[in-house]
Amino acid sequence: MSKGPRDYDDLIVYFQGEYVPWKNATVHVFSPAVKYGAGVFEGIRGYWSEARQHMVVFRLQEHLKRLEYSQKVMRFEKIFRAEELTEPLLEMLRRNDFKQHVHIRPTVYVDGDGESGSQGPVDVNITAVRRSKKAEVETGVNVQVSSWQRLSDLAMPTRVKANANYNNSRMADMQAKADGYDTAVMLNSKGHVSEGPGMCFFMIRDGVPVTPTITSNILESITRATVIELLREEMGLETVERDIDRSELYACEEAFFCGTAWEVTPIRNIDGLPVGDGAIGPITTELTDVYFNLVTGNNNDARGWLTAV
Ligand code: PMP
Repeated sequence: MSKGPRDYDDLIVYFQGEYVPWKNATVHVFSPAVKYGAGVFEGIRGYWSEARQHMVVFRLQEHLKRLEYSQKVMRFEKIFRAEELTEPLLEMLRRNDFKQHVHIRPTVYVDGDGESGSQGPVDVNITAVRRSKKAEVETGVNVQVSSWQRLSDLAMPTRVKANANYNNSRMADMQAKADGYDTAVMLNSKGHVSEGPGMCFFMIRDGVPVTPTITSNILESITRATVIELLREEMGLETVERDIDRSELYACEEAFFCGTAWEVTPIRNIDGLPVGDGAIGPITTELTDVYFNLVTGNNNDARGWLTAV
């Protein structure tokens, strides 16, 4: 993906109730959002559907509901509801007239000039940037078991998508890159596998998909739920949700990450050891296919997971 302000020149952002050019969508340095990371957000995918010749947004209501939950837990004085954000989000996409895949991000944050305990005033912005298919979906990634522990739910609410939580992700991700890996997988305070910096972990052992439970300090991922359902209903494979030990990472036949941004991304290597024989395995390959056909609107949307823009 190309980055940098110049690629954003023509973007329209939903900001303070209006649709404005990206360069006008700025937040004050005195805001608790800037000073303390007082914000919550969602990452959502919009896919340009070649088959339908319009954009579709994947599981929009589930994402906006999780955003409501995040605001509640963070005790924001006003909660932006899913019903209230749906139309601005879709209108922002229409105004941008995208003909490619995009990554959409609504952020609700504490504005004003308060201190770290301030709960308002609260505002929302919704952005979208063009996002082509990640090369890693085809190539797979090399992963480090991080020496940084995944946040504990005793320290921060791990199933809330709080901006501040992502400093935990950053530590693991930056360490992995500094050590020559693509990204990391973190262990939780009990020493079991938790998740990646922005994605959930699955492995295949003896033909069975296995993923950490939702009480493993993970984000309750919408893609994780999607993958469990697709494995069951499209591929006849029941996922086991249980604790995963570190040494199992070196025993599994296949492994992959999943998430809104990571989609389904194969893991080739963990701590320098090949996953299986180091090639992308058949279950991961088939799942990737099923997933992309679903999210890009190639199939009929029996589950009602796609919102037309
Ligand atoms: N874990 C973390 C820490 C994440 O940031 C994300 C991305 N939102 C995920 C998992 C995957 O969640 P989802 O499938 O809902 O995008």
